[in-house]
Amino acid sequence: MTPPRALTIAGSDSGGGAGLQADLRTFFACGVHGMTAVTAVTVQNSVGVSGITVIPPEVVVAQIRAVATDIGVQAAKTGMLATAETVSAVADAMAEFPSLPLVVDPVAASMHGDQLLRDEALDALRTRLFPRATLVTPNLDEVRLLTGIKVTDRDSQRAAAVALHAYGPRWVLVKGGHLWTDPSCVDLLYDGSGFVELDGPRFDVKDTHGSGDTLASVITAALAKGRSVPDAVRLGKGFIVESVRNAYPLGAGVGPVSPLW
Ligand code: PLP
Repeated sequence: MTPPRALTIAGSDSGGGAGLQADLRTFFACGVHGMTAVTAVTVQNSVGVSGITVIPPEVVVAQIRAVATDIGVQAAKTGMLATAETVSAVADAMAEFPSLPLVVDPVAASMHGDQLLRDEALDALRTRLFPRATLVTPNLDEVRLLTGIKVTDRDSQRAAAVALHAYGPRWVLVKGGHLWTDPSCVDLLYDGSGFVELDGPRFDVKDTHGSGDTLASVITAALAKGRSVPDAVRLGKGFIVESVRNAYPLGAGVGPVSPLW
């Protein structure tokens, strides 16, 4: 039987830890057929990113159209989009599929600090893609870049969710993993009316490469299966906790989280 199908619009991580490689293995682990529109090729290993080649935006859009018109897509996510031109091209392409659930993970930098999104693309993300998003899933560094808000506690985390929601996404998930002063990891889900706090343990581990991509991919897979956003996010939270628990060392640097356990 044909499984549900999900599309990731994202960059390649040659080290196989994050990016579309993380998305594809997560889709597979969730029982969903994964497809890719490659936006950029990073030269990357466990130590960092040493090169980025951006795929022409028209090639990104052609990949989206090719799979959506033939194979069919039940949910899509965006990861590394690299440039304002690609953000705008993806937003235009998404307008052709108005009912497709879209998770926007506003990837801006790797955990090593390598920039994965040009500065001028932030505005395109906020104004072109956020209004089309079913859910946006920023971490706290991305929140600061997108809103100027430095989250230090639950109140500022709520304020950030409200500020992001004003750009037009249906739902916002402000991830609390980078709030290092918090003994647990509390992600905050907001739909413009109410907050849902999703509490999870904080692990003292270094191998967390690809954790954001993996979380957004579980949520996308669950949406492809017809789950509601709150259900998909709850599922994602449980999944990422186990994936971090099962992370493994790789190379001389940072190893990836593992969606199989
Ligand atoms: N490389 C690519 C292509 C990515 O898409 C991402 C994150 O989305 C990263 C690297 C960074 O992952 P992390 O911050 O988990 O190291």
